Amino acid sequence: EAKLQRIPAPKPMVGRIALVTGGAGGIGAASAARLLADGACVMLADRDAAAVEEVRAGFAKRFGQDGVRAVVCDVTDEGQVQAAFDACAREFGGLDILVANAGIASSAAIEDTTVDLWNRNYSVLAEGYFLTSRAAWPLLKRMKLQGGTSVVFIGSKNGVAAATNASAYASAKAAANHLARCLALEGAPEGIRVNVVNPDAVIRGSKIWDGDWRQERAGAHGIDPGAELEAHYRNRSMLGRDVLPEDIAEAVYFLASDASAKSTGNMINVDAGNAQA
Ligand code: NAD
Repeated sequence: EAKLQRIPAPKPMVGRIALVTGGAGGIGAASAARLLADGACVMLADRDAAAVEEVRAGFAKRFGQDGVRAVVCDVTDEGQVQAAFDACAREFGGLDILVANAGIASSAAIEDTTVDLWNRNYSVLAEGYFLTSRAAWPLLKRMKLQGGTSVVFIGSKNGVAAATNASAYASAKAAANHLARCLALEGAPEGIRVNVVNPDAVIRGSKIWDGDWRQERAGAHGIDPGAELEAHYRNRSMLGRDVLPEDIAEAVYFLASDASAKSTGNMINVDAGNAQA
């Protein structure tokens, strides 16, 4: 009796090149892993040199040495951003996918929001997204004939719905969201799609939640920063489930892939079902 020969399907991201900013962090590393798993080459860019090298080494073991590289890059530094994209072009030969994700978070009531705090948020979350998109642009345009170029911004639910005591962070996120819409319009003739993923709280796996943000958010909601905090976000979601970096990575993957070929200037909220920020 003849046995059916099963031929494994080719990995859909083979031949695609991605750069992920904040690639050493929770959501960035999970997104990079999702792309690598399906055959993409990934340049991890992060300002944290030790962390990005650790993530790179782990991925090299897991997915193979050839597909992953790392570059130290602060997205607020024009020169370092340019150098990161130059490195990507040199090492991999171009760029098909940008995941603009590097971010910080801070929380303060408006009267306690210093100009420095305001500027720090805008510098990473608005200017950083502008600088990375601008540096990616000529590389993405060059891929026009190949098709499939995509920019994915990691936004935030705080950028679409009002957030308690986080006006600097939330409004900077809203600025990046609108930048994405403008770039979608500008990129369309070049075949460059630009979309946003808005996570709600991703507590486990995110370094943002290891810092002051945790205390500050707990304070803003009047709850305990320990287990009560996770329960707060879980219980207010429709599905009653925690949102994990891997959940965000699935949405990033969809928007980066040809499965979303007819989507640009759009947003996907990954929040387990929640209208509040
Ligand atoms: P994370 O702290 O785990 O990762 C962020 C990464 O960005 C870190 O590796 C950090 O070193 C890097 N980074 C910070 N500033 C940088 C800079 N100037 N240049 C280069 N790299 C820089 O946090 P995360 O939760 O993975 O956050 C990723 C993105 O997701 C951020 O844009 C954040 O605002 C957004 N987000 C997170 C949540 C959440 O609850 N975790 C919710 C909504 C949106």
